[in-house]
Amino acid sequence: MLTDHKSSTLTQAPQMYFDLSEDQKQFQELAHTFAENEIRPVAPKYDEAEEFPWDVIKKANELGLMTYAFPEEYGGAGATSAVTSCVVTEELAWGCAGVATAMGGTGLCATPILIAGNPAQKAKYLTRLAAAHKLALGAYAITEPNAGSDVASMKTTAKKVSGGYVLNGTKQFITNGGLADIYVIFATLDPARRADGICAFIVEKDMGVKPGKKEKKMGIRASHTAQIHFEDVFVPEENRLGDEGDGFLVAMRTFEHTRPDVAAMAVGVARAAFEYAMDYSQQREQFGKPIARLQAIGFMLADMATDIDASRLLTWRAAWMLDQGLPVNKEASMAKRFAADTAMKVTTDAVQILGGVGYMRDYPVEKWMRDAKIMQIYEGTSQVQRVVISRMLTGW
Ligand SMILES: Cc1cc2nc3c(=O)[nH]c(=O)nc-3n(C[C@H](O)[C@H](O)[C@H](O)COP(=O)(O)OP(=O)(O)OC[C@H]3O[C@@H](n4cnc5c(N)ncnc54)[C@H](O)[C@@H]3O)c2cc1C
Repeated sequence: MLTDHKSSTLTQAPQMYFDLSEDQKQFQELAHTFAENEIRPVAPKYDEAEEFPWDVIKKANELGLMTYAFPEEYGGAGATSAVTSCVVTEELAWGCAGVATAMGGTGLCATPILIAGNPAQKAKYLTRLAAAHKLALGAYAITEPNAGSDVASMKTTAKKVSGGYVLNGTKQFITNGGLADIYVIFATLDPARRADGICAFIVEKDMGVKPGKKEKKMGIRASHTAQIHFEDVFVPEENRLGDEGDGFLVAMRTFEHTRPDVAAMAVGVARAAFEYAMDYSQQREQFGKPIARLQAIGFMLADMATDIDASRLLTWRAAWMLDQGLPVNKEASMAKRFAADTAMKVTTDAVQILGGVGYMRDYPVEKWMRDAKIMQIYEGTSQVQRVVISRMLTGW
């Protein structure tokens, strides 16, 4: 039976607004302009050379685009909203996901300090990371050669000694690894204790972080990914984040905050490819008409646009929930899983819409396809996101 719409309980539901605030629109504009003028023109060069984009990163730092999300007392712009961060990240990744990842490595280092740092740690290290006049990069290191998705199996040890800890081990695939000035490192008091034995430490480069092999990558080639080694590196007790054994929780809470950002990055890459494919399909003619008017291509464009919108909505929901202080484990994983898989599909379809030229390096879409793949891997693979979601749903 049809119900009177006015008396339906639906009218009791809270209103939903998707408008950004004036502040958020300004950050979006700033990030978009930066992506268009400073990132896009040099993105192919850094991709080809597989070089770290120091000049872009320095400019971004001067503009405050690296640390705008830090509280003002530590030198940031106080734009602490997760929604703002997602809006900015989407624009930067629209410019180039490699450059956005190079910038994001510092945010990934700052997040556990913001979550678990004491006032002295925040004042010392966030202020250093936020200094506009002197660029300091951050990095976050949890992955090891034999501990990827199963982070609790890590072997890097932290041995308690007088006044602190001595770290030994190797971290793998670390964004900004070897370039960073400040690291958040996860190490275990005893590998047999698995998650319970893990501690997080703030480690300065000069304490003895040894750069290792730089990786050669499929995509996001402007970002620097490398091993780092610890050989009897002394870290003072005051640099431990939280209590002994808190490290696993710190890592998981960090991912709740950063997975929506990775999802936003995936949306940015997908949007770049979609826009290019849209334009191309309206200009390229075959069989006497633009290929956009062939139903096969038009349906592909329709699915691309729909999945990008759905990805952004999931991303903004997760970010909004973070801003409300709500638990967001499931929703952050849903956003990252869906947006990452969407980026892979949309960029692959964009190559298809361009046909042969899509496969050529003279056109940007093959780069976006290579860049998109990482979204399904770092900060937890798409399979691991499904593990998180299914655990949250079923409670096992
Ligand atoms: C470019 C790049 C940058 C990175 N940056 C950082 C960084 O800054 N800091 C950092 O700490 N790490 C970083 N990583 C590491 C990244 O987070 C890991 O690669 C990722 O978590 C997967 O771990 P793994 O590579 O060891 O794969 P594995 O864990 O060995 O997984 C291999 C395969 O098995 C699947 N799998 C594993 N476990 C399960 C399960 N329980 N259920 C179903 N499937 C499963 C995976 O989905 C994957 O398909 C980076 C990686 C890359 C490639």
